[in-house]
Amino acid sequence: MTIKDSLWKGLHTVLNVGCAKVLILEISGLCSARCKYCCRGTSNHISTIKFMTAAHFEALLAHLKKTRFLPRWRGMIELYSWSEPTLNPEIDTILQITHRYKQRARLSSNFIVPWRIAPESYPYIGNVIFSLCSLQNEHYRRIYGADLQTTLAHFKEFLANRKKYNPGMSVTIHWLQYKFNTEETAAAKQYFSELLQGEFCFRGFPAYLNDLQAHLSYFRSGGQVLEGYNLEEVKEDIDLDRIIRISTKAPKSFPCPMKTPSFLVITEDGQLAQCCMVTSKHPEYRRGDILTLRRQEIIRLKKNAPICQECEQCHFPYFFFGGNEGVD
Ligand code: SF4
Ligand code: SF4
Repeated sequence: MTIKDSLWKGLHTVLNVGCAKVLILEISGLCSARCKYCCRGTSNHISTIKFMTAAHFEALLAHLKKTRFLPRWRGMIELYSWSEPTLNPEIDTILQITHRYKQRARLSSNFIVPWRIAPESYPYIGNVIFSLCSLQNEHYRRIYGADLQTTLAHFKEFLANRKKYNPGMSVTIHWLQYKFNTEETAAAKQYFSELLQGEFCFRGFPAYLNDLQAHLSYFRSGGQVLEGYNLEEVKEDIDLDRIIRISTKAPKSFPCPMKTPSFLVITEDGQLAQCCMVTSKHPEYRRGDILTLRRQEIIRLKKNAPICQECEQCHFPYFFFGGNEGVD
Protein backbone atom coordinates (compact mmCIF):
# COMPACT_ATOMS: atom_id res chain seq x y z
CA MET A 1 0.00 0.00 0.00
CA THR A 2 1.39 3.42 -0.93
CA ILE A 3 1.62 6.32 1.55
CA LYS A 4 -1.23 8.02 -0.32
CA ASP A 5 -3.42 4.91 0.01
CA SER A 6 -2.65 4.70 3.73
CA LEU A 7 -3.60 8.35 4.19
CA TRP A 8 -6.93 7.85 2.36
CA LYS A 9 -7.61 4.73 4.41
CA GLY A 10 -6.82 6.59 7.65
CA LEU A 11 -9.07 9.51 6.68
CA HIS A 12 -11.85 7.10 5.72
CA THR A 13 -11.63 5.38 9.11
CA VAL A 14 -11.60 8.64 11.07
CA LEU A 15 -14.52 10.20 9.18
CA ASN A 16 -16.62 7.05 9.40
CA VAL A 17 -16.14 6.24 13.09
CA GLY A 18 -19.25 4.48 14.46
CA CYS A 19 -20.76 3.89 10.99
CA ALA A 20 -21.34 0.45 9.51
CA LYS A 21 -18.27 -0.81 7.68
CA VAL A 22 -20.32 -3.40 5.83
CA LEU A 23 -23.85 -2.29 4.99
CA ILE A 24 -25.97 -4.81 3.14
CA LEU A 25 -29.44 -3.94 1.87
CA GLU A 26 -31.21 -6.79 0.14
CA ILE A 27 -33.23 -5.07 -2.60
CA SER A 28 -34.54 -8.22 -4.24
CA GLY A 29 -36.32 -11.25 -2.87
CA LEU A 30 -35.73 -13.23 -6.05
CA CYS A 31 -32.89 -14.80 -7.94
CA SER A 32 -32.63 -15.81 -11.59
CA ALA A 33 -30.67 -18.96 -10.68
CA ARG A 34 -31.55 -22.00 -8.61
CA CYS A 35 -28.10 -22.96 -7.42
CA LYS A 36 -27.74 -26.44 -6.07
CA TYR A 37 -25.95 -25.41 -2.88
CA CYS A 38 -27.51 -22.02 -2.13
CA CYS A 39 -30.17 -21.54 0.53
CA ARG A 40 -32.15 -19.48 -2.00
CA GLY A 41 -31.76 -22.00 -4.82
CA THR A 42 -32.83 -24.89 -2.58
CA SER A 43 -35.74 -22.93 -1.01
CA ASN A 44 -34.11 -23.08 2.42
CA HIS A 45 -34.43 -19.30 2.35
CA ILE A 46 -37.70 -17.77 1.13
CA SER A 47 -38.67 -14.11 0.91
CA THR A 48 -42.11 -12.78 1.80
CA ILE A 49 -41.99 -10.06 -0.85
CA LYS A 50 -40.46 -9.88 -4.32
CA PHE A 51 -38.64 -6.56 -4.19
CA MET A 52 -37.84 -3.65 -1.89
CA THR A 53 -39.45 -0.51 -3.29
CA ALA A 54 -37.32 2.55 -4.04
CA ALA A 55 -39.43 4.55 -1.55
CA HIS A 56 -38.69 2.02 1.21
CA PHE A 57 -35.02 2.00 0.27
CA GLU A 58 -34.88 5.79 0.58
CA ALA A 59 -36.64 5.73 3.96
CA LEU A 60 -34.10 3.16 5.16
CA LEU A 61 -31.12 5.26 4.05
CA ALA A 62 -32.63 8.31 5.78
CA HIS A 63 -33.06 6.29 8.98
CA LEU A 64 -29.54 4.83 8.75
CA LYS A 65 -28.20 8.34 8.35
CA LYS A 66 -30.16 9.56 11.37
CA THR A 67 -28.94 6.64 13.48
CA ARG A 68 -25.35 7.25 12.28
CA PHE A 69 -24.88 3.86 10.62
CA LEU A 70 -24.63 5.27 7.11
CA PRO A 71 -20.98 6.03 6.23
CA ARG A 72 -20.35 9.77 6.24
CA TRP A 73 -17.71 9.60 3.52
CA ARG A 74 -17.22 7.36 0.49
CA GLY A 75 -19.40 4.50 1.70
CA MET A 76 -20.17 1.41 -0.36
CA ILE A 77 -23.59 -0.20 0.06
CA GLU A 78 -23.99 -3.83 -0.94
CA LEU A 79 -27.39 -4.20 -2.61
CA TYR A 80 -27.61 -7.98 -2.27
CA SER A 81 -27.30 -10.81 0.20
CA TRP A 82 -29.17 -13.88 -1.10
CA SER A 83 -30.56 -12.57 -4.38
CA GLU A 84 -30.00 -11.08 -7.82
CA PRO A 85 -30.23 -7.31 -7.25
CA THR A 86 -30.48 -6.36 -10.93
CA LEU A 87 -33.96 -7.96 -11.10
CA ASN A 88 -35.45 -5.16 -9.02
CA PRO A 89 -37.58 -3.13 -11.50
CA GLU A 90 -36.66 0.09 -9.62
CA ILE A 91 -32.91 -0.55 -9.70
CA ASP A 92 -32.15 2.73 -11.52
CA THR A 93 -34.04 4.79 -8.95
CA ILE A 94 -32.35 2.86 -6.14
CA LEU A 95 -28.93 3.61 -7.64
CA GLN A 96 -29.82 7.29 -7.96
CA ILE A 97 -30.88 7.39 -4.30
CA THR A 98 -27.64 5.65 -3.28
CA HIS A 99 -25.73 8.40 -5.09
CA ARG A 100 -27.86 11.14 -3.55
CA TYR A 101 -26.89 9.83 -0.12
CA LYS A 102 -23.21 10.06 -1.15
CA GLN A 103 -22.72 6.31 -1.29
CA ARG A 104 -21.60 3.99 -4.09
CA ALA A 105 -23.29 0.69 -4.81
CA ARG A 106 -21.78 -2.77 -4.93
CA LEU A 107 -23.74 -5.34 -6.92
CA SER A 108 -23.18 -9.06 -7.10
CA SER A 109 -24.66 -10.59 -10.23
CA ASN A 110 -24.81 -14.04 -11.76
CA PHE A 111 -25.38 -12.49 -15.25
CA ILE A 112 -27.82 -15.28 -16.08
CA VAL A 113 -30.28 -12.68 -17.38
CA PRO A 114 -29.07 -9.53 -19.17
CA TRP A 115 -28.72 -6.38 -17.11
CA ARG A 116 -31.48 -3.79 -17.54
CA ILE A 117 -29.55 -1.00 -15.84
CA ALA A 118 -29.68 2.34 -17.69
CA PRO A 119 -26.38 3.86 -18.93
CA GLU A 120 -26.97 6.91 -16.69
CA SER A 121 -26.91 4.66 -13.61
CA TYR A 122 -23.53 3.04 -14.33
CA PRO A 123 -21.53 5.87 -12.68
CA TYR A 124 -23.31 5.13 -9.37
CA ILE A 125 -21.92 1.61 -9.23
CA GLY A 126 -18.52 1.31 -7.55
CA ASN A 127 -17.95 -2.43 -7.77
CA VAL A 128 -19.51 -5.46 -9.44
CA ILE A 129 -18.94 -9.04 -8.34
CA PHE A 130 -19.41 -11.88 -10.80
CA SER A 131 -19.65 -15.27 -9.08
CA LEU A 132 -19.10 -18.54 -10.89
CA CYS A 133 -17.45 -21.89 -10.46
CA SER A 134 -16.53 -23.28 -13.85
CA LEU A 135 -15.78 -22.45 -17.46
CA GLN A 136 -17.09 -25.84 -18.51
CA ASN A 137 -20.76 -25.78 -19.38
CA GLU A 138 -21.46 -29.20 -17.93
CA HIS A 139 -20.19 -28.20 -14.46
CA TYR A 140 -21.66 -24.70 -14.61
CA ARG A 141 -25.08 -25.98 -15.66
CA ARG A 142 -25.10 -28.61 -12.93
CA ILE A 143 -24.45 -26.02 -10.18
CA TYR A 144 -26.27 -22.90 -11.51
CA GLY A 145 -28.89 -24.56 -13.71
CA ALA A 146 -28.07 -22.15 -16.56
CA ASP A 147 -26.13 -22.04 -19.82
CA LEU A 148 -22.54 -20.81 -19.45
CA GLN A 149 -22.19 -19.27 -22.92
CA THR A 150 -25.35 -17.18 -22.44
CA THR A 151 -24.09 -16.00 -19.04
CA LEU A 152 -20.69 -15.04 -20.47
CA ALA A 153 -22.37 -13.18 -23.34
CA HIS A 154 -24.30 -11.10 -20.78
CA PHE A 155 -21.12 -10.46 -18.82
CA LYS A 156 -19.31 -9.26 -21.97
CA GLU A 157 -22.24 -6.98 -22.78
CA PHE A 158 -21.93 -5.52 -19.27
CA LEU A 159 -18.16 -5.02 -19.76
CA ALA A 160 -18.79 -3.09 -22.98
CA ASN A 161 -21.25 -0.81 -21.16
CA ARG A 162 -18.87 -0.37 -18.24
CA LYS A 163 -16.14 0.74 -20.66
CA LYS A 164 -18.49 3.34 -22.17
CA TYR A 165 -20.30 4.61 -19.09
CA ASN A 166 -18.05 4.02 -16.07
CA PRO A 167 -14.56 2.67 -16.85
CA GLY A 168 -13.53 3.34 -13.23
CA MET A 169 -15.96 0.73 -11.90
CA SER A 170 -14.03 -2.16 -10.36
CA VAL A 171 -14.87 -5.78 -11.15
CA THR A 172 -14.29 -8.74 -8.87
CA ILE A 173 -14.50 -12.36 -9.92
CA HIS A 174 -15.62 -14.65 -7.10
CA TRP A 175 -14.48 -18.11 -7.97
CA LEU A 176 -16.06 -20.84 -5.88
CA GLN A 177 -13.82 -23.81 -5.40
CA TYR A 178 -15.55 -27.20 -5.42
CA LYS A 179 -14.04 -30.66 -5.50
CA PHE A 180 -14.64 -30.92 -9.24
CA ASN A 181 -12.93 -27.69 -10.31
CA THR A 182 -9.64 -27.62 -8.41
CA GLU A 183 -7.72 -27.91 -11.68
CA GLU A 184 -9.61 -25.08 -13.33
CA THR A 185 -8.62 -22.11 -11.18
CA ALA A 186 -5.43 -21.11 -13.01
CA ALA A 187 -7.14 -21.27 -16.42
CA ALA A 188 -10.07 -19.23 -15.11
CA LYS A 189 -7.71 -16.56 -13.77
CA GLN A 190 -6.04 -16.40 -17.17
CA TYR A 191 -9.38 -16.23 -19.00
CA PHE A 192 -10.63 -13.29 -16.93
CA SER A 193 -7.28 -11.56 -17.02
CA GLU A 194 -7.45 -11.51 -20.82
CA LEU A 195 -11.13 -10.57 -20.89
CA LEU A 196 -10.68 -7.71 -18.42
CA GLN A 197 -7.22 -6.78 -19.65
CA GLY A 198 -5.69 -7.28 -16.23
CA GLU A 199 -8.02 -4.77 -14.51
CA PHE A 200 -9.87 -6.95 -12.04
CA CYS A 201 -9.60 -8.75 -8.76
CA PHE A 202 -9.83 -12.54 -8.67
CA ARG A 203 -10.85 -14.08 -5.34
CA GLY A 204 -11.11 -17.81 -4.89
CA PHE A 205 -13.24 -19.22 -2.07
CA PRO A 206 -13.64 -22.83 -1.04
CA ALA A 207 -17.39 -23.47 -1.48
CA TYR A 208 -19.60 -23.67 1.61
CA LEU A 209 -23.34 -23.45 2.23
CA ASN A 210 -24.64 -19.92 2.88
CA ASP A 211 -26.92 -21.39 5.52
CA LEU A 212 -25.83 -21.42 9.16
CA GLN A 213 -28.48 -23.91 10.28
CA ALA A 214 -27.18 -26.50 7.85
CA HIS A 215 -23.60 -26.00 9.07
CA LEU A 216 -24.63 -26.16 12.74
CA SER A 217 -26.59 -29.37 12.17
CA TYR A 218 -23.44 -30.86 10.63
CA PHE A 219 -21.31 -29.85 13.62
CA ARG A 220 -23.88 -31.02 16.17
CA SER A 221 -24.36 -34.41 14.55
CA GLY A 222 -20.64 -35.04 14.08
CA GLY A 223 -21.02 -34.94 10.31
CA GLN A 224 -24.15 -37.14 10.07
CA VAL A 225 -26.85 -34.53 9.29
CA LEU A 226 -27.00 -31.52 7.01
CA GLU A 227 -30.39 -29.94 7.63
CA GLY A 228 -32.21 -28.98 4.42
CA TYR A 229 -29.71 -30.60 2.02
CA ASN A 230 -28.83 -34.01 0.69
CA LEU A 231 -25.70 -34.78 2.69
CA GLU A 232 -24.22 -37.38 0.37
CA GLU A 233 -24.75 -35.20 -2.70
CA VAL A 234 -23.20 -32.15 -1.02
CA LYS A 235 -20.19 -34.14 0.15
CA GLU A 236 -19.40 -35.15 -3.41
CA ASP A 237 -18.89 -31.51 -4.35
CA ILE A 238 -18.01 -29.61 -1.15
CA ASP A 239 -15.31 -30.50 1.34
CA LEU A 240 -17.50 -30.13 4.43
CA ASP A 241 -14.87 -31.64 6.69
CA ARG A 242 -12.51 -28.84 5.74
CA ILE A 243 -14.91 -26.52 7.54
CA ILE A 244 -14.57 -28.61 10.68
CA ARG A 245 -10.78 -28.87 10.30
CA ILE A 246 -10.46 -25.07 10.06
CA SER A 247 -12.86 -24.46 12.92
CA THR A 248 -10.91 -26.75 15.25
CA LYS A 249 -7.90 -24.45 14.79
CA ALA A 250 -9.88 -21.47 16.09
CA PRO A 251 -8.39 -19.53 19.01
CA LYS A 252 -10.31 -19.71 22.29
CA SER A 253 -12.03 -16.47 21.57
CA PHE A 254 -12.67 -15.16 18.08
CA PRO A 255 -15.16 -12.28 18.12
CA CYS A 256 -17.57 -12.44 15.20
CA PRO A 257 -17.49 -9.13 13.27
CA MET A 258 -21.05 -9.76 12.04
CA LYS A 259 -22.37 -9.40 15.62
CA THR A 260 -21.17 -5.83 15.84
CA PRO A 261 -22.79 -2.62 14.59
CA SER A 262 -20.03 -2.46 11.96
CA PHE A 263 -21.87 -5.10 9.98
CA LEU A 264 -25.54 -4.49 9.15
CA VAL A 265 -27.75 -6.70 7.01
CA ILE A 266 -31.24 -5.49 6.12
CA THR A 267 -33.77 -7.79 4.49
CA GLU A 268 -35.84 -6.94 1.38
CA ASP A 269 -38.77 -6.10 3.70
CA GLY A 270 -36.67 -3.71 5.77
CA GLN A 271 -35.98 -5.91 8.80
CA LEU A 272 -32.72 -6.10 10.69
CA ALA A 273 -31.20 -9.53 9.98
CA GLN A 274 -28.69 -11.01 12.41
CA CYS A 275 -26.12 -11.65 9.68
CA CYS A 276 -25.85 -13.05 6.18
CA MET A 277 -25.72 -16.66 7.41
CA VAL A 278 -28.94 -16.90 9.46
CA THR A 279 -31.66 -17.58 6.89
CA SER A 280 -35.44 -17.00 6.85
CA LYS A 281 -36.05 -20.52 8.23
CA HIS A 282 -34.64 -19.47 11.58
CA PRO A 283 -36.82 -17.62 14.15
CA GLU A 284 -33.98 -15.12 14.72
CA TYR A 285 -33.78 -14.13 11.07
CA ARG A 286 -35.94 -11.02 11.49
CA ARG A 287 -34.78 -8.98 14.50
CA GLY A 288 -37.11 -5.99 14.05
CA ASP A 289 -38.25 -3.31 11.61
CA ILE A 290 -35.22 -1.08 11.05
CA LEU A 291 -37.39 2.03 10.72
CA THR A 292 -38.65 1.59 14.29
CA LEU A 293 -35.30 0.76 15.89
CA ARG A 294 -33.03 3.27 17.57
CA ARG A 295 -29.24 3.00 17.31
CA GLN A 296 -28.77 1.45 20.76
CA GLU A 297 -31.55 -1.08 20.12
CA ILE A 298 -29.88 -2.24 16.91
CA ILE A 299 -26.54 -2.62 18.71
CA ARG A 300 -28.15 -4.51 21.60
CA LEU A 301 -30.16 -6.85 19.34
CA LYS A 302 -27.12 -7.81 17.32
CA LYS A 303 -24.92 -8.32 20.34
CA ASN A 304 -27.32 -10.54 22.25
CA ALA A 305 -28.77 -12.91 19.63
CA PRO A 306 -29.11 -16.40 21.20
CA ILE A 307 -28.16 -18.05 17.87
CA CYS A 308 -24.68 -16.52 18.20
CA GLN A 309 -23.90 -18.57 21.30
CA GLU A 310 -24.31 -21.84 19.47
CA CYS A 311 -22.56 -20.50 16.40
CA GLU A 312 -19.55 -19.38 18.44
CA GLN A 313 -19.39 -22.70 20.28
CA CYS A 314 -18.94 -24.36 16.87
CA HIS A 315 -16.29 -21.76 15.91
CA PHE A 316 -18.17 -20.98 12.73
CA PRO A 317 -17.17 -17.24 12.82
CA TYR A 318 -13.51 -18.31 12.73
CA PHE A 319 -14.13 -20.47 9.68
CA PHE A 320 -16.00 -17.66 7.96
CA PHE A 321 -13.64 -14.80 8.74
CA GLY A 322 -10.42 -16.36 9.89
CA GLY A 323 -9.70 -19.45 7.95
CA ASN A 324 -11.73 -19.96 4.79
CA GLU A 325 -9.43 -18.05 2.49
CA GLY A 326 -6.25 -19.59 3.83
CA VAL A 327 -4.81 -22.99 3.11
CA ASP A 328 -5.57 -25.40 5.90
S1 SF4 B 1 -25.87 -18.64 -5.17
FE1 SF4 B 1 -26.39 -16.59 -5.87
S2 SF4 B 1 -26.99 -16.92 -8.01
FE2 SF4 B 1 -27.16 -18.91 -7.02
S3 SF4 B 1 -29.31 -19.07 -6.30
FE3 SF4 B 1 -28.05 -18.28 -4.64
S4 SF4 B 1 -28.29 -16.04 -4.76
FE4 SF4 B 1 -28.88 -16.93 -6.77
S1 SF4 C 1 -21.89 -15.46 15.65
FE1 SF4 C 1 -22.77 -16.65 13.94
S2 SF4 C 1 -24.99 -16.20 14.02
FE2 SF4 C 1 -23.93 -14.64 15.21
S3 SF4 C 1 -23.59 -12.96 13.82
FE3 SF4 C 1 -21.74 -14.25 13.78
S4 SF4 C 1 -22.04 -15.70 12.08
FE4 SF4 C 1 -24.03 -14.78 12.55
